[in-house]
Amino acid sequence: MITKIIQEEKIQKAKKYVEKGESFVIVTHVTPDGDALGSSLGLYHFLTAYGKDNVTVVVPNEFPQFYKWMPGAKDIVIHEKYPEFAEQLIGEADVIFCLDFNEPKRIEKLAPAVLAAEGRKVLIDHHLDPADFCRVEMSYPQMSSTSEMIFRFICRMGIFDLMNQEAAACIYTGMMTDTGAFTYNSNKPEVYVIISELIKKGIDKDLIYRKVFQVYSEARLRMQGYVLYEKMKTYPEKHAALITLSKEELGRFNYVTGDTEGFVNMPLNIEGVSFSVFIREDKDYIKVSLRSVGDFPCNQFASRYFNGGGHKNASGGEFHGTLDEAIAVFEKGLKEFNPNKTEEIEKLI
Ligand code: 5GP
Ligand code: MN
Repeated sequence: MITKIIQEEKIQKAKKYVEKGESFVIVTHVTPDGDALGSSLGLYHFLTAYGKDNVTVVVPNEFPQFYKWMPGAKDIVIHEKYPEFAEQLIGEADVIFCLDFNEPKRIEKLAPAVLAAEGRKVLIDHHLDPADFCRVEMSYPQMSSTSEMIFRFICRMGIFDLMNQEAAACIYTGMMTDTGAFTYNSNKPEVYVIISELIKKGIDKDLIYRKVFQVYSEARLRMQGYVLYEKMKTYPEKHAALITLSKEELGRFNYVTGDTEGFVNMPLNIEGVSFSVFIREDKDYIKVSLRSVGDFPCNQFASRYFNGGGHKNASGGEFHGTLDEAIAVFEKGLKEFNPNKTEEIEKLI
């Protein structure tokens, strides 16, 4: 048995929407990751198995190639490619599930359509401080992933039989990717009870690992070598490390979306490094990824210096300016915030 974490009243309200609704849209955050896609497709397969034939996952923009194998991935509507169609679906949906994001800003150009839509909105998410824009709000930051919440949501509706192998594979993918293959944020015993149930549904968890994590191009692996050898800067007295990549450098290694995923975690393999930041020059802004181990809340660093947020140990943000300016902001932040003394941060906020 797993503990009842989501409030019963919320489950019953959302269940009613599921029973009565005919058209469903599931939306998730920009640059969808494994959990965004896993939770959305997990719910998509469940609703389809329930007998709903008008269910669509809508994402703001393209997602990495190594998630394209996920069952249902090819039916996802990408707003950036088909804006009118995506907005029409959202406008006409009876029910809109908002998964793996806590505020409209995280769905960027999809936000106006979702906010204006009249369908009933249900938030299922594990980020802190949810904005008030959904009728039903299931926000539980203690969860490993939104995918874990989808598992719990389906269980609690009492229709676990309708979770098929496809749904289970998607849910597993989200749980796996949001915990770095169960290496962080994954100490709760129930996570493993859930995995055992997913395996009983017929998933091959070892194959899923391989499909997501062991499918690099040669250029991608060489870029990793370049980054570690030439681009990683450490700040030993701050227990911190920084990696930066310019557009030119990305081009040299034939960068495609997703190629730099995981780079931010690499410096954490160094003994004594507990805070790592990766700054990448994107098309029209600078993307910042932050990770920490232990008590240092990198989401506070993200929010203070890079207009972002996220989880205590995994967060992100953005910067508008040059790469050098972003680096200067990071180094200024390091001087003000000591990653090893969190109580100093409390004083600053
Ligand atoms: P990543 O570094 O993988 O892009 O993001 C890690 C986590 O940080 C995400 O799961 C998300 O919670 C959060 N995050 C990333 N970018 C942003 C951002 O621009 N704003 C906020 N509020 N959170 C972000
Ligand atoms: Mn997530």
